[in-house]
Amino acid sequence: ETAINQIAAGEVVERPASAIKELVENAIDAGASRIDVEYADGGKRLIQVTDNGCGIAAEDLALAMSRHATSKIDGSDLLNIQSFGFRGEALPSLGAVGKLTLTSRTATGSGAELQVMGGKLSPVRPAAMQPGTRATLRDLFYATPARLKFLRSDRAEAQAIADVVKRLAMAEPAIAFSLRDTGTDRMVFQVQAEQGDMFSALRGRLGQIMGRDFVDNAIPVDAEREGVSLTGFAGLPTYSRGAAVAQYLFVNGRPVRDKLLLGALRGAYADFLSRDRHPAVALFVECDPTLVDVNVHPAKSEVRFREPAMVRGLIVSGLRHALAEAGH
Ligand code: ADP
Ligand code: MG
Repeated sequence: ETAINQIAAGEVVERPASAIKELVENAIDAGASRIDVEYADGGKRLIQVTDNGCGIAAEDLALAMSRHATSKIDGSDLLNIQSFGFRGEALPSLGAVGKLTLTSRTATGSGAELQVMGGKLSPVRPAAMQPGTRATLRDLFYATPARLKFLRSDRAEAQAIADVVKRLAMAEPAIAFSLRDTGTDRMVFQVQAEQGDMFSALRGRLGQIMGRDFVDNAIPVDAEREGVSLTGFAGLPTYSRGAAVAQYLFVNGRPVRDKLLLGALRGAYADFLSRDRHPAVALFVECDPTLVDVNVHPAKSEVRFREPAMVRGLIVSGLRHALAEAGH
């Protein structure tokens, strides 16, 4: 069981940022309205994610740590995946590669805590806790020094953490987020919950993360085709940059780096931009979960659409239309 968890862990947890991604996704799934992330030494020494979501009952804590124990799906429903989690792999994987402590409390229950080290579970103990969940992961890869060696500098790992948390924060404007480097006692970023309708909340959140300059100069995109919608903001061709530009893409609320979507983006701007210049965008594709397979890889940043050509067409025409409306 420990060996299986370590193999699974290799797929789910490549680096501190991927551990944080799993924990923050769990917090989002738990209905949290505030998520606080901390790390030390680029996440190698400490990762901690605290949320105010639904919590886990004391009697369910051990179950949450066991492989393929997910509360989010039953076997009959594999094609209808709404929440981030659907494999029940993250917590056992984290417990296999680091020293994991899960402290939690439901709205009506009392706080409890469970530790996992080397895949071994401690007894559940009472613990003081506000309603919600705190996952603390210490000494990632301490038991697998070979993997530890593949990690990059603290600085590079911290950069990857910030990137992951920012992407998740962009997709969830109604949730307050903070990211703190406790090693250096530095607040990396902090965003309040945005109010109002979807577009204005998104505008506010993107302004905080991508910069006011981006949202003030971007065109709103709002297109739909055969039950698939495309919304968000697209930079004007004149706002394009070189290779390091921010292109943020989401499918059903999940940050993705999908080849099909990036290709469609290039197609939409092909008349305006040369190949080495890229538009800044934050675009959200939403569709029925049965029309997209997010189960391609455990790290889940690639997706497979049931009808890729239609999705590509939606993006190209939706963006061209928005650009034309803006006079391009
Ligand atoms: P998955 O997210 O795929 O279900 P995980 O291993 O990430 O699998 O989590 C296992 C289970 O633990 C979840 O299904 C959920 O019931 C519970 N859980 C994990 N994190 C949280 C959290 N932050 N708040 C509430 N419940 C949680
Ligand atoms: Mg999960």
